[in-house]
This record gives sequence, structure tokens and C-alpha cells, in this order.
Amino acid sequence: MRFIFVTLSVFLPNMAAAFTLNSSNDSLFRGWQNSEVTFNVNTANCPTGMDIPGLIEEAVKVWNNVPTSRVKISYNSSTSSTTFASPTTVYCETNFQGVTGADQDYVPAAAAVQPSGHYAIGGLLYLNVSGGQANISLYDRTSLLVIIAHEVGHILGLGHSQEPSALMYYNAGGKQHLTLGQDDIDGVSYLYPRNEFNGDKMMGCGLLRNSSSLPRHPSGGTFAMLMLLLLLPLFVYARLRFSVSSFIDPP
Ligand SMILES: [Zn+2]
Repeated sequence: MRFIFVTLSVFLPNMAAAFTLNSSNDSLFRGWQNSEVTFNVNTANCPTGMDIPGLIEEAVKVWNNVPTSRVKISYNSSTSSTTFASPTTVYCETNFQGVTGADQDYVPAAAAVQPSGHYAIGGLLYLNVSGGQANISLYDRTSLLVIIAHEVGHILGLGHSQEPSALMYYNAGGKQHLTLGQDDIDGVSYLYPRNEFNGDKMMGCGLLRNSSSLPRHPSGGTFAMLMLLLLLPLFVYARLRFSVSSFIDPP
């Protein structure tokens, strides 16, 4: 099975500082065709008391609130799956290093996307619950949110950024706040550009003219009839006044 695999491990794309796509061999990769991306969570083996669905719902807000992007991510439901699925599966892996190949002492999470054509059709997000030093139970809540939001970025189709201020910087572990950098905003807006003209919104003259549900400008005939109705009382008034004046003051 072909899939794109990324982790928080050292991965420096050979490019100028900019967002990258989560695909090294498909420059036309465009993430998910449906911009409403959802996550199913398998909480088996996850740390007791850790609200993984709640963490996901909190972490995805930064991606959902980009004004120039239409992507909407949400928690969907629980699952018992540990494999690729659409929507994306999230689960806690006890054999994290063996399954992902990432160092369980440094990498708290990993993500993989299954492509078809230029789009993602499946996603898998692994959380490290191994005996290593990067077990997610050893991180505070803010760090967990940063880690999950970073992996969600991979699921959306983004690769690593060389910008240290970006959430998608390869080393997200040291970040103290969950925020997006301009590079992240540029990346998600590139993959999921917001189209203001969808949904028949009143955002442009072209749309107004093309909408059958909106009032049209009056036609030439209608305009002439309206003007006649407005001017007729004035005409009648002027005629009456002229006639009266003629009666009082005959020439
Ligand atoms: Zn990463």
C-alpha cells in the first residue's frame, strides 16, 4: 500500500523557506478533495484520563480559523481501527518505534496520508504511548495541542517548513503556544483556497446580475411606464391650473 509518511523527526526539505506539500514525488498533490476533514479516534491504549477527542477539537481550531482557507476539521466519532481510513484514524501506538520507524525517545506523534491521484483518500495519526521518552503522557496540555495540530497539518497535506515560526517547522516540540505562522497560513490557503463566490453570496456585481433570485434592474419599457405614472398627476395639475387661469384672466 502506497502512502506518504511524515514524523516530527529531522527532515529538512531542500527548498527556500516556504511551506511544502506532504508529498515528495507529486507536485500536484492537493490534500483532501473534500475540505471538511474529520477524525475518528481509537482511545484504546491511550493514557488514562487524557481526552484525545477534546485535544483534537481544541487543536484543529487554528486551522479552521484561517480566513483565506475553507478547510474545516472536526472530531467525528470513536473507532476501533488502527489502519488508514477516511476520515482519518487517530490511535495510541505502544510499539511506536517499531511501527513508524521514528525514535520513540524524541518523536511523540507521526502522521501518514494515503493518496489516490493528486488527493488524499485516507489518513492515520499515531500517538506515541511506548516506553520511550516521547510518550505523550509526559507532555503538558499545550505541548500536546501543538503536537496534534502539527500532525493535523500533515494530514491536511502540508510537509515541513523551514520557518522556525511555523507550526509546520520540523521541530514543533519546543513551541510554547499553539499558533500558526504566516507560512502555515499560506500553505493551508494554497491547498484549500476559500472561494467567496460559492453559495450564491452577494460578493460581486457579476454574481448579482446572474442570480435569478435577486431583483433585476427595470427594463426600458417598465422604466418608461413608471415615469409616465409619476408625471401624469403633474400634467393633469398643470392643465387644470392653466384652464382656471384662463377663465379668471381671459386674454
Ligand atoms: Zn512533522
